[in-house]
Amino acid sequence: MDTDTITAISTPIGEGAIAIVRLSGPEAVKISNKLFQGNDLTSVNSHTIHYGKIIDPSTSEVAEEVMVTIMRGPRTFTREDVVEINCHGGLASVNRLLELVLAEGARLAEPGEFTKRAFLNGRIDLSQAEAVMDLIRAKTDKAMNVALKQMDGRLSKLIQSLRQELLETVAHVEVNIDYPEYDDVEEMTLEMMVKKTNQVYVEIERLLQMAKQGKILREGISTAIIGRPNVGKSSLMNALVHENKAIVTDIPGTTRDAIEEYVNIRGVPLRLVDTAGIRETEDIVERIGVEKSRQVLKESDLILLVLNYGEELTKEDLNLFKVVEDLDIIVIVNKTDLDQKIDIDKIKHYANGRPVITTALIEEVGIDALETAIADTFFAGELDVGDLTYVSNVRHIQLLKQALQSLTDAINGIEDKMPIDLVQIDVTRTWELLGEIVGDTVQESLIDQLFSQFCLGK
Ligand code: GDP
Repeated sequence: MDTDTITAISTPIGEGAIAIVRLSGPEAVKISNKLFQGNDLTSVNSHTIHYGKIIDPSTSEVAEEVMVTIMRGPRTFTREDVVEINCHGGLASVNRLLELVLAEGARLAEPGEFTKRAFLNGRIDLSQAEAVMDLIRAKTDKAMNVALKQMDGRLSKLIQSLRQELLETVAHVEVNIDYPEYDDVEEMTLEMMVKKTNQVYVEIERLLQMAKQGKILREGISTAIIGRPNVGKSSLMNALVHENKAIVTDIPGTTRDAIEEYVNIRGVPLRLVDTAGIRETEDIVERIGVEKSRQVLKESDLILLVLNYGEELTKEDLNLFKVVEDLDIIVIVNKTDLDQKIDIDKIKHYANGRPVITTALIEEVGIDALETAIADTFFAGELDVGDLTYVSNVRHIQLLKQALQSLTDAINGIEDKMPIDLVQIDVTRTWELLGEIVGDTVQESLIDQLFSQFCLGK
């Protein structure tokens, strides 16, 4: 339990009309009062604001003209006593004020420490704390709305209700194990388990789908175009951009420098990356192996894998398929104007359910179908921006994916008629993973690391 009093400048560094030095902790009021000339701050009502002067105790000179807000815990952000001193916004004056506060015994707060205290004192849960961080960083209105919704606890409530469902399931299994003589409980449990786990599964999947859409709205889909030299990657990029910004050339390997282009495909913003780096990617497969190449490509939300209709599949093509095994890809078989050498059935096998589109980019054939496939990949259902509980935080998305995986294990277990107590392990694991999102089951080191990402004064 923290007992010291922390302080920081809570407004952005730079010129502004006012700046705020914030204090939180048991000594917050006392420290402020020592510097303050005006009302006796130790005896004023909570949640009141006071005009006065800050006196430098070492010189007895007036250092600042200020407004001081006194907020007594627990009705504060950190649940501790909080004081906010509003002073003039110049860098020098606010720094001087901070120095005086530090000289009276407050400690400089670590980045995110105010929010960390809010979390540790039960004022907010972890996903809300992270929303504060996202809010600070949000660059667009939409991103800000997402963070605001998360901060008001919408995601937390949803996650908690899913956990509750799982907990009930586990509890039923416990009953089942403890009272095996009730035959009908066995049946009940299995049925319930199927129903509940499926419900939760659908919800998590929905959250992940929306996360994908949320990310798209914020940043665009980062899209990599990969394929052997000369298959038509630059031509594809050009076709999508409808401008000739990427260099198209006949000589394999001569496209220079990675070029980034933003294009809007039926409302889906793509951030296309061509191609020098990606051309290397192909070499990388040889050089650093499949697993490492996958790590590189995992950074992309979408991969357009281009093949040549007029050539048989090569070893390099197959390597690329291996690399993108579990990633979001669209396969583009280009140059259908040439005589067919490639085996489409084989490609469909490797694509494993993901879209395969044929094009003749040189004749502008197939671009429409490709655009449809791109839109479908990211907006499978209707996109309703109005009332979505977006998950925007990378850590949350990772946890949701893991939760979905362990739930899949559970569901498979049920279908394979595994002993129910084994299935229960996976359900419990899912429950724990979801708990990590709201901070119920996270380790302290993770918490420290998360809060250290905040800016100072939050
Ligand atoms: P990259 O090396 O993968 O970027 O391939 P490019 O886009 O530079 O294309 C290589 C060559 O293939 C160029 O001469 C293109 O004009 C040609 N090309 C692109 N698309 C097609 C197509 O659909 N049919 C044919 N026959 N040639 C194409």
